[in-house]
Amino acid sequence: MIAPDMHEVSICQGLVKVVLDEMAQRAIPAGALLRLRVVAGALHQIVPESLEFAYDLLTRETPAAGSKLELRVTPLAARCTKCDWRGTIEPPLFLCSVCGAGVELEGGDELYVEDLEIAES
Ligand SMILES: [Zn+2]
Repeated sequence: MIAPDMHEVSICQGLVKVVLDEMAQRAIPAGALLRLRVVAGALHQIVPESLEFAYDLLTRETPAAGSKLELRVTPLAARCTKCDWRGTIEPPLFLCSVCGAGVELEGGDELYVEDLEIAES
C-alpha cells in the first residue's frame, strides 16, 4: 500500500500550516525554504520516515515544496510521584527507575517547528 501513515499525516498537516504561515509572514519566496527543524516529544511516537514522506506529499503544490524536514525527538521526562526521582523514561514502561512507582510526565509531549533554514538570495 502506497499511503503514508495517518498519524504522521495529521501531525504533518499542522506543521505545514505553521510553515506556510511563517513563510507568508516573513515574505519568504516560494522555493527559498531549504530545511525546517521540527522538535517532537517521544510521546507522539512519530516514525521519522513517515513524517518526512507526509511532508513531501503535503508541501508538493505549496511554496514550501522541495524543502526538507528534519525531526528531533526529545525524550520523555518524568517525575516519580512517590520518591520524587526525576529522569527520562522509555515507553511503554512508565515507572520510576528507583522505586518502581508510577511517574508523572513533565516533558515529551511537545511538538513545534524549531527553525527554518532559508536560502541566501
Ligand atoms: Zn520513585
